[in-house]
Amino acid sequence: MENFDLFSEDMSSNRKADLNEVFDLAILGAGPAGLTASIYAGRAGLKFILVERLSSGGQIVFSDQVDNYPGFPEGISGSQLMERFEKQASKFGTQIFSGEVREIKKSDNLFLIETSSGTIKSRSVIYAMGADPMKLPVPEEERFRGKGVSYCATCDAAFFKDKIVCVVGGGDTALYDALHLSRFAKNVIVLHRRDKLRAVKVLQDIVKKNPRIELLLEHIPLHIIGNKKVEGLEVENVKTRESKVINIDGIFVAIGIVPNTLPLKGIVELDEKGFIKTDLNMETSVQGLFAAGDVRATPLRQVVTAASDGAIAAFSAQKYLENLER
Ligand SMILES: Cc1cc2nc3c(=O)[nH]c(=O)nc-3n(C[C@H](O)[C@H](O)[C@H](O)COP(=O)(O)OP(=O)(O)OC[C@H]3O[C@@H](n4cnc5c(N)ncnc54)[C@H](O)[C@@H]3O)c2cc1C
Repeated sequence: MENFDLFSEDMSSNRKADLNEVFDLAILGAGPAGLTASIYAGRAGLKFILVERLSSGGQIVFSDQVDNYPGFPEGISGSQLMERFEKQASKFGTQIFSGEVREIKKSDNLFLIETSSGTIKSRSVIYAMGADPMKLPVPEEERFRGKGVSYCATCDAAFFKDKIVCVVGGGDTALYDALHLSRFAKNVIVLHRRDKLRAVKVLQDIVKKNPRIELLLEHIPLHIIGNKKVEGLEVENVKTRESKVINIDGIFVAIGIVPNTLPLKGIVELDEKGFIKTDLNMETSVQGLFAAGDVRATPLRQVVTAASDGAIAAFSAQKYLENLER
C-alpha cells in the first residue's frame, strides 16, 4: 500500500515513502525532540519516517514567548521557533507522515507501528510523543490559556513581575513553581484541595518561610474571572462549600502531566508516574526502542532538553543499526 498522499504538504522531501518498505528508523512525534532527532537521522543518511498525529511543533507552539531557548536573546514565539526546527528538518529530507500511533509491537528485530494511516515497519524507533499537562478543571481553561493561565512557571514567571499569581497544586512541582514565581511576583497564592500539601517536607518548610507565598488549603478552583486576560479566580472551600473570588493576574497549573505512553503499555519499563525509563543513550528496556523529550523520566522538561534527547536518541539509533548489521 502506498501512502504518498498522507504526507503533510508543508514539509518538502527529496524522498517519498512507501509503507511496504522497511525503515531504518521511525520517529514518533514531531515536537522539539522528534524534529531534532529527524535532523540527526537525515544527516546520518538513515531511511527514516517522522509520524505526527496533529501539525508539527508539539506543546511549545502554544507559548507566545520563549525566552530560555539559547540563540534568541530577544526571545521568540513557540510557533516561530518550531517553524525554524521544521525548516531545518525539511532541509535534511524530513516529511511529516500524518497518523496517530496506536500500538507498537516488536518481532524478530522489527518494529510494527500501528497508526491510524497504516502499519509502519521499522528496525528502530524513537518514541517522542511528549506529555500533556493535566488541565485546570474549570470551564474557562481553554479561553484563558496563554492569557494568564500557564502550565510552565519556568517559562512564564518573568511575565508576572510584581503581579499576584496563584499556583494550583500541592506537590513538589507546585511548590518549586511557587518558589520560582516568588522571585518575580509580589505575591504567590498556593491553592490546594487538601488540608496538607503533598510536597516533601523540606520544600514545604522553605515555602512556609517565604513571606511572598501564602497557602490557601482546602480550596478548589471553580471559575476564572476576566475579560481578555485573567483578573481573578473564584474558589470554593471544600468543607464549607463557601466560594469567594481572589484577585490575581495569573494562574499556574501544576496538578501533574500525563505522558503519552498508551501505545507502549505493557512492552516498556515505565517509572511510577508512567514516564519511560531510559539509560544515558536514551535506550528503553526494549532494545532498538529509544525515548526522547517530555515522555521520558527526566528532571527537566523543556525545549532545550527535548532537543538534546532527540539528538542523543538519533545518534544511539544509528549505532544500534550499525551493530545489527555486523
Ligand atoms: C504553555 C507551555 C509553555 C512552555 N514554555 C516553554 C518555554 O518557554 N521554554 C521551554 O524550554 N519549554 C517550554 N515548555 C515545555 C516544552 O514545550 C516541552 O518541554 C517540549 O515541547 C517537549 O518536547 P517533546 O518533543 O518531548 O514533546 P511535545 O512537545 O509534547 O511533542 C510531542 C508530539 O508528539 C505528538 N503525539 C502525541 N501522541 C501522538 C500519537 N499517538 N501519534 C502521533 N503523534 C503523537 C504530539 O502531537 C506532539 O506534536 C512549555 C510548555 C507549555 C505547555
